[in-house]
Amino acid sequence: MNDHDMERMRSLLINGGLTCVQDVQEADIVIVNTCCVREKAEQKFYSRMGRLRSVKRKKGTILGVTGCIAQLEKKGILNRLPFIDFALGPSNIEKINKAVEEAIKGVPFFDFAENGCDTLPFLKPANVQSPVRAYVTIMKGCDNFCSYCVVPYVRGRESSRESGKIIEEIKGLAKRGTKEVTLLGQNVNSYNKNSNDISFPELLKKINDIDGIERIRFVTSHPKDLSPALIDCFSTLGKLCESIHLPFQSGSDKILKLMNRGYTRIEYYEKITALRKQCPDIAITADCIVGFPGEDDRDFHDTIDLIENIQFDNIFSFAYSPRKFTGAATLLDIVPKDLAQERLLHFQQVQKSITTAKNRQMEGKRTEVLVEDISKNSAEELAGRTRTNKIVNFKGTKDMMNNLVEVDIIKGYANSLKGANPKVKRG
Ligand code: SF4
Repeated sequence: MNDHDMERMRSLLINGGLTCVQDVQEADIVIVNTCCVREKAEQKFYSRMGRLRSVKRKKGTILGVTGCIAQLEKKGILNRLPFIDFALGPSNIEKINKAVEEAIKGVPFFDFAENGCDTLPFLKPANVQSPVRAYVTIMKGCDNFCSYCVVPYVRGRESSRESGKIIEEIKGLAKRGTKEVTLLGQNVNSYNKNSNDISFPELLKKINDIDGIERIRFVTSHPKDLSPALIDCFSTLGKLCESIHLPFQSGSDKILKLMNRGYTRIEYYEKITALRKQCPDIAITADCIVGFPGEDDRDFHDTIDLIENIQFDNIFSFAYSPRKFTGAATLLDIVPKDLAQERLLHFQQVQKSITTAKNRQMEGKRTEVLVEDISKNSAEELAGRTRTNKIVNFKGTKDMMNNLVEVDIIKGYANSLKGANPKVKRG
């Protein structure tokens, strides 16, 4: 979501006449887009602002803050950062040009949603960075109130965008050459859960019928909202990619309850079994928090047991950190930091070997790749993603850029695949 907000602001500012530069030292205006979901990100933000303060002192640089921390702190942010010129909550980034204009005139500008973002307009990704891939926000906010999460407090309650407008936007993107759309929402699969508009599976079906769109993805899904109708889409909709991000957060029922996740370990397993029944090759990724208050050795063992049994393609894992305003911040049975780190390291080692083994299983297979860029590894290679969302690097020709090609996978690594014998896919 933050990347999408960054793209949107960049686009608005460029359309407003500003030029983007690479080096902070060169800039007249610096905007820091923030995330407060994890404590580490928040700490990094404040130390970065300390460094930017010195730049401002030397050059008079205008400094602005956007995103979750701005929304959470509102004008209180001035207590810690009295030198900033403007701040906008995530729902107010449409006013970025106004904020910059006022700051240039020397007028501080602060604007936040009073109750999160549920009543504010949605954003359209004009000037998306990649010519073939685009993100489309279909819903915002979250009603789940997981006990560790600050998102409902900063992004507001769930609100879904009208399906007709989404379809219209995607048709427009397809006309401009977009081949892959990723539907975005904090809880994307509860789209329209309180509305008479079409359901999420029905929306996917309509997008599947749009000429020019070749691939559909969505992120992030909540396990409790993964309905049988949505699971069926993975076998019936040809353009829906064989990949899903389905955070489980813990393998222990006790911890899942404390987290207020709304499902049990067995229910999670059942969803994965149903997904694999409909789509045996589906790649499954997830998020997990270790060291949540109350997590003992047995709970952690349950989590390791779950990841070994499910064999995820990849997992984003974090050590728990308390967040202001959340229910979990009041829990007393804290896991010592060292122990949480030790568990995280063990978790990541186990998962890394699973991910590598899964990538090796791809060796010898011919697979479709949407070519997006020059490879980060070598200027002589191209890079793209499989339908299962794995990065493939391979030697190819310029005409392959932004096209679907088929490649042989000759090597699977921990973070990527190596391809060979590319051929542009026709028809
Ligand atoms: S579902 Fe996701 S966004 Fe919503 S409260 Fe839980 S963790 Fe946060």
